[in-house]
Amino acid sequence: MPECTAIVNDVNTFRDRHIGPDDVGERHMLGVLGFASTDELIDSAVPQQIRCPEGLRLPAARSEPEVLAALRELAEANQQRVQMIGLGYFDTVTPAVLRRNMLESPAWYTAYTPYQPEISQGRLEALLTFQTLIEDLTALPVAGASLLDEATAVTEAVLLMRRANKSVSSDRVILDADCLPQTLAVVRGRAEALGVEVVVADLSDALPDGDAFGVVFQSPGASGAVRDLAPLIAAARERGMLTTVAADLLSLTLLTAPGEQGADIAVGSAQRFGVPLFFGGPHAGYMAVRSGLERMLPGRLVGVSVDVDGKPAYRLALQTREQHIRRDKATSNICTAQALLANVAAMYAVYHGPEGLRAIATRVHRHAAALAEGLRAAGREIVHDRFFDTVMVRVPGRAPLIVAAADSAGINLRLVDTDHVGISCDECTTDEVIGRVLDVFGAAPAAAGHPFALPAALLRTSEYLRHPVFHSHRSETAMLRFLRELSDRDLALDRTMIPLGSCTMKLNAAAEMEPISWPGFAGIHPYAPAGQTAGYRELIGDLESWLAEITGYDRVSLQPNAGSQGELAGLLAINAYHRSRGEDHRDICLIPQSAHGTNAASAVLAGMRVVVVKTAANGNIDHDDLAAKLADHDGQVAAIMLTYPSTHGVYETDVRAVCDLVHRAGGQVYVDGANLNALVGLAKPGEFGGDVSHLNLHKTFCIPHGGGGPGVGPVAVRAHLAPFLPGDPLQDGAAPVSAANYGSAGILPITWAYLALMGPDGLTAATKAAVLGANYLARSLAGHYPVLYTGDTGLVAHECILDLRDITKRTGVTAEDVAKRLIDYGFHAPTLSFPVSGTLMVEPTESEDLAELDRFIEAMIGIHDEISRVGSGEWALDHSPLRQAPHTAEQVTDAEWALPYSRQYAAYPVASLRLNKYWPPVRRIDGVHGDRNLACSCPAPEAFQTDTAEILQEAFA
Ligand SMILES: *Cc1c(COP(=O)(O)O)cnc(C)c1O
Repeated sequence: MPECTAIVNDVNTFRDRHIGPDDVGERHMLGVLGFASTDELIDSAVPQQIRCPEGLRLPAARSEPEVLAALRELAEANQQRVQMIGLGYFDTVTPAVLRRNMLESPAWYTAYTPYQPEISQGRLEALLTFQTLIEDLTALPVAGASLLDEATAVTEAVLLMRRANKSVSSDRVILDADCLPQTLAVVRGRAEALGVEVVVADLSDALPDGDAFGVVFQSPGASGAVRDLAPLIAAARERGMLTTVAADLLSLTLLTAPGEQGADIAVGSAQRFGVPLFFGGPHAGYMAVRSGLERMLPGRLVGVSVDVDGKPAYRLALQTREQHIRRDKATSNICTAQALLANVAAMYAVYHGPEGLRAIATRVHRHAAALAEGLRAAGREIVHDRFFDTVMVRVPGRAPLIVAAADSAGINLRLVDTDHVGISCDECTTDEVIGRVLDVFGAAPAAAGHPFALPAALLRTSEYLRHPVFHSHRSETAMLRFLRELSDRDLALDRTMIPLGSCTMKLNAAAEMEPISWPGFAGIHPYAPAGQTAGYRELIGDLESWLAEITGYDRVSLQPNAGSQGELAGLLAINAYHRSRGEDHRDICLIPQSAHGTNAASAVLAGMRVVVVKTAANGNIDHDDLAAKLADHDGQVAAIMLTYPSTHGVYETDVRAVCDLVHRAGGQVYVDGANLNALVGLAKPGEFGGDVSHLNLHKTFCIPHGGGGPGVGPVAVRAHLAPFLPGDPLQDGAAPVSAANYGSAGILPITWAYLALMGPDGLTAATKAAVLGANYLARSLAGHYPVLYTGDTGLVAHECILDLRDITKRTGVTAEDVAKRLIDYGFHAPTLSFPVSGTLMVEPTESEDLAELDRFIEAMIGIHDEISRVGSGEWALDHSPLRQAPHTAEQVTDAEWALPYSRQYAAYPVASLRLNKYWPPVRRIDGVHGDRNLACSCPAPEAFQTDTAEILQEAFA
């Protein structure tokens, strides 16, 4: 089909569609701020010292049809094959109902991380369903709400075993030699930074001698072998070791589960549950643990609690383990994970149910068995008798030839070495494919009636997925409505601005999103031969060079799967650099008090010691304290991690001086680039003093948040650090930080499209609009809520902190009350109590138009009026709309109403809500209750059948 590549119309370019305010809106905002032009505002707000003199050298903006046509060409330059390489990545059918109504639905993909649980019940329920799926299949009681990929999940398991093992004092961990090669590479790199000794051993028969704090088994092994792990797990326990099984999720529908074999931890990937190959990611990693370890679980965990009516409600549990609270003592540095992909996997299981999953697994196994039988009949040697989906064939000296012949037949097989070929079957394998593979080996077609080759002793006898959710949504109608029911409970960007400071919840344009599910991008195996992935390589090359130009650095790696992983990669590069110069002793990482929690957590994971630098009264780094810390640790400083503009939303004028001080002390400067939305086109961290930065493509560069992931956290470096960027996990070289060389490659077309659509001028205009919007909000609200920090000129950068601490002191109304009352006004709350407790941090982004900004201002001023009525004594705080918020429909329509304001005022505090009202499904949630009574799987349906009216009557009696 020929595509229209003309410009759609001559008035509205993509840039006008992406940037919310039009000329009239812009002039209005500038008028409020007292500037004649946006450039004048920018010249005042952004310090001259950091400005880059020239514009960005990027290709000029293209229209949507042009960009989509270019992307289609790139997708077509990737050659599709039947993917039978395996190694943790398998082709799968994403049911169309899930693809269109979840993966491609803005109600799901534009949602933010569920930190405000009252407006996140739908996606929290989906994540809880994911946890229940993992818990059931692994037979372990507590699973988290996703990790970044399998290899990093194994690494997290190794670190967990080390923390948890109090009985053995050893720094050794034993890894199964049959672990996936990328897992071995990632674990080795991460272990080295922390002084963990990795022993890779053949565990077919027994454990190696010597102490170790833990063992990791792979099941099935990379070779395809399925073993009974129970005796080895028991032997490990006998010797005081903890045990982890990296298990293929689909195989667990047939094979005895890790929990039943006595394992402490199970990890793996949920990719083959309906998530495309995506050339390596994004995919949800999973982890489940036995009871007793749940408080050490890395990443996010959804739990069940109650709202003020005692009704079951979901929210993130045990957050005190996490980096945003525990910082350098956190269980891990993971922040953004893989929520959207975990939700797809959960719904795949909901749609198929246990019988459907077992049927898929059985078919996969029977195809593998038919293949093995056909090959044996032709005299080929099959290396392992016991396998699930992967057959390893011994073909001395001929493996490269066979793999090449398969390629010609349109099939990718795994070249293990010159003597061995691996063949992995999956949900998409057909009899016809099996016939073609056999033909490549010169074998006759398989006989009809495929055998089942797994012995009874290895088979699972226990039931799983008995919860009604896995039995109630089998028709497409039911599934469609279930997805809609869940997403209707949530507030995402498709309904309201999400003014989250530091998270840049901007437009995720439809044209940017569209290409990701095209088969030319979605159907590529990460380990496909380079010759088949020319389109991806070109796209990645473009993106690397464009991001280098935007940041002022020399080299970019797109491998890290989130900002946290970019941080770790950057710090590991700094370590390696110091080591290369014989300065191994440099291990101090200076981190300002106001830094994001991932900074400190990443530094610890890179083997560094964290030293906190104080904040001065104006919110900037305290230079005296910095000088003192540099002197105290003379010769030992490895790096400083700065966020620029700071997490206080201010362009610090003296950032160059800070960088100089650290450089003079021999340290490297890490600039956390999560706030790059205030810099693109105006200033470049690589030019004002940074040696390395990570970016958040899921913030500044339009990849949607997905309700808590996916993310991409590229790491950008100056030339001297380039040799230490993450290496390819399947090649020797620098340590990788993800299982796939290009991390979450499947979502890179989103950022590519954004940059191509905006062009250099559009990108710079977006930054200016973001700064204008933030200053307009700050100025409009300053009379009601003091803005905590501004720069020397009284201006902020792209976000501002509203200080509620004085209000709280005077009236008792907290920042949390304001956040919850905003729900009644139809808004997602700003960032609550970060980086300063008792404040709200607001970031409008360039995508919100004047009408939406004004709607937010109206809400915040309306709430201020409510605060005054509490302050004046008119309303008791407990019976005020602020503390009662959010109000549910059930509450305001109940027969009883004992509050001093009207039902109408509770629900419709401003008139526009009568036309467009979001009703939260639960009232304010009691987080502490949920942590005390930890429950992390789907509750029985009876739990929801409490009589709320009765409880309400009691409450107000
Ligand atoms: C979001 C953020 C991070 C972490 O990024 P993730 O992708 O969530 O891991 C780090 N630093 C800052 C300042 C951030 O805002």
